[in-house]
Amino acid sequence: MTPQSEGASSPAIAVRGLRKSYGAVEAVRGIDLDVMRGEVFALLGPNGAGKTTTVEILEGHRDRTAGEVSVLGYDPARSQRDLKERIGIVLQSTGVEPYLKVEETIDLFRGYYPHPLPLDEILDVIGLEEQRRTPVKRLSGGQQRRLDVAIGLAGDPELLFLDEPTTGFDPSARRGAWEMVRNLQSLGKTIVLTTHYMDEAEHLADRVAIMVHGRIVAQGTPGDLVRREDSTTIRFRLATWPEDLPPGLEARSTGGGQYTIVTDAPTHRLHLLTGWATDRGLELEDLTVSRPSLEDVFMELTAPPELGQGRE
Ligand code: ATP
Repeated sequence: MTPQSEGASSPAIAVRGLRKSYGAVEAVRGIDLDVMRGEVFALLGPNGAGKTTTVEILEGHRDRTAGEVSVLGYDPARSQRDLKERIGIVLQSTGVEPYLKVEETIDLFRGYYPHPLPLDEILDVIGLEEQRRTPVKRLSGGQQRRLDVAIGLAGDPELLFLDEPTTGFDPSARRGAWEMVRNLQSLGKTIVLTTHYMDEAEHLADRVAIMVHGRIVAQGTPGDLVRREDSTTIRFRLATWPEDLPPGLEARSTGGGQYTIVTDAPTHRLHLLTGWATDRGLELEDLTVSRPSLEDVFMELTAPPELGQGRE
């Protein structure tokens, strides 16, 4: 089957009005999303939000209840074989033979595809050249996860689905995995990843979508999402309560001599604050000015309604 309306500028994935119910449970409640070719797209959301269901529908592993879905120009509900040759799926753990060597394992999976990616290129991208002759059972957890990615890459897919690629990793293994994702992107691959780590999404994703209760509540670049919150937080420490702060500087004590000012005019407030402190010969210890992180935005969007208002 020939994919419809496929071109370099068409999105790799286009979803309109997607719904999925499991009996009475509405797991996905009418979502729209586009993933552009060559971009890293992160699907975020709390447990049970509907991410896995959505990704499985895109992969062709689950039927949908309603809506339009196009993946590389195919309808994944209809074009199993053609589509499968062009996508790679990296699940949370892939069952592989523990006594085979790394290169033997990758070659085994390459054999399933008509146009596999060269072995050396795969080893280079995933960073397992030195372990190419190591039996799988002797790889560390992080190295095994890289091998899972190698298997997903074997068929030289245009689109790769990565399910929580760094869950359980130590910080240095996570950095290594992030570098690997960037290598994949530089090969021109489109990547859809799910993750529970907001810093990971912020580092890796060109665009993110946040799902809550089967709906997409925010979609855009991490920068766009962070800019939704127009507040900046100024923090400082002082030994005594700053009683005579000028009007407009409403500081809140957060304990331990620490104060915060939340403002949408940080330049002006900082000018007032530092002028006030300089006039009194005070040093504002631990002075920081910070924008909300993607994690702050995520918490705000996914907080239960009764907690959503009073968050600090
Ligand atoms: P997690 O972050 O925990 O993996 P998720 O965002 O991937 O969660 P889903 O696994 O898609 O969420 O689940 C969405 C909703 O659909 C949940 O309420 C879940 O219980 C329900 N669900 C998922 N799979 C099935 C199924 N096979 N049968 C019935 N209900 C299901």
